[in-house]
Amino acid sequence: GATIGILGGGQLGRMLSVAAARLGFKTCVYEPGGDCPASHVANFHLQAAYDDADALRRFAQSVDVITYEFENIPTDALDILEAIRPVRPGREALRISQDRMTEKDFLSGLGLTPAPYAQIDTLDDLTAALAQIGTPAILKTRRFGYDGKGQARITDPAQAEEAFAAMAGAPAVLEGFVTFTHEVSVIAARGPDGQIACFDPGENVHKDGILHTTTIPARIPRSRQTDAVLLAGRILNALDYVGVMGVELFVTPQGLIVNEIAPRVHNSGHWTQNACPVDQFEQHIRAVAGWPLGDGQRHSDVVMENLIGTDADTWEALAKEPGTAIHLYGKADAKPGRKMGHVNRITPRA
Ligand code: ATP
Ligand code: MG
Ligand code: MG
Repeated sequence: GATIGILGGGQLGRMLSVAAARLGFKTCVYEPGGDCPASHVANFHLQAAYDDADALRRFAQSVDVITYEFENIPTDALDILEAIRPVRPGREALRISQDRMTEKDFLSGLGLTPAPYAQIDTLDDLTAALAQIGTPAILKTRRFGYDGKGQARITDPAQAEEAFAAMAGAPAVLEGFVTFTHEVSVIAARGPDGQIACFDPGENVHKDGILHTTTIPARIPRSRQTDAVLLAGRILNALDYVGVMGVELFVTPQGLIVNEIAPRVHNSGHWTQNACPVDQFEQHIRAVAGWPLGDGQRHSDVVMENLIGTDADTWEALAKEPGTAIHLYGKADAKPGRKMGHVNRITPRA
């Protein structure tokens, strides 16, 4: 059978490997770290850095198609890999989602609505942008931010200097604070032939900048859910996208605001593992392998809860709960803020 190459060895790579194995594929994980969640379940683990050209070439030659679990693949690595095997999702999705500024320009260009934003390279830029956008606002690094890292909230223009210093010289973007009624995300998939399948939007609650729960169904009107799904479809089509994407949205009385997109399987899609015949991981593997997309209609209502840090210590009690599926990532040290696992609590679809 074919082998799927996965860049990145975290829990997303792990769950992609499990899904690939169920479909009869082998997986090879490329990950600089040693004992990583994906290496425990993948067939092969190539342990090398992302600037190791020889290792990248060997990896590409040993697989049939390449995908990834994180969007910060260096361009040089991509050049090497792409010359040898198809990389899915493709280059354009990576280029756009690696930089918040590029991403917002792209979304605006599609006629979608991001939060008001401005490029911030200097303290003067920030002062001017605050005068225009107002407070509260959030200053974010353009690249490499996740789980709310690299962000500074500004409630008063007097905090500009402190917030700017917190970016430590990294290029940044200022965003107006969106007063949303709900936060939702769409997990959307697109195959090489243009077929699109979206899971029902989930409602997300964050705690300390980290996703805490995803609840399905989202408590927003059916018509808004349809708006969200159609909007996600437009993004995928515009990128000629192949694979699963997470689209994070703010719901406001004025309509949907796009927060950010992630060109990969997404934490807010973990609920699909126990509420749908085909989950986001299998859907992603199907898309990158050129299979028909599967049935992602949910048969259950579900609440996904992340197990962060020592949350997973309660695994024994969780394992006894009816209607609860427990997923642990096999990570050794439960550092604060570290994603150790998640649970899906399902009930029959209302
Ligand atoms: P991840 O990639 O892990 O989802 P991130 O570090 O890229 O997170 P964001 O998604 O930008 O962070 O922000 C994290 C959370 O902070 C959002 O889900 C939302 O709850 C809140 N937030 C971010 N930007 C805004 C905004 N402009 N207005 C209101 N809330 C915001
Ligand atoms: Mg993000
Ligand atoms: Mg986010």
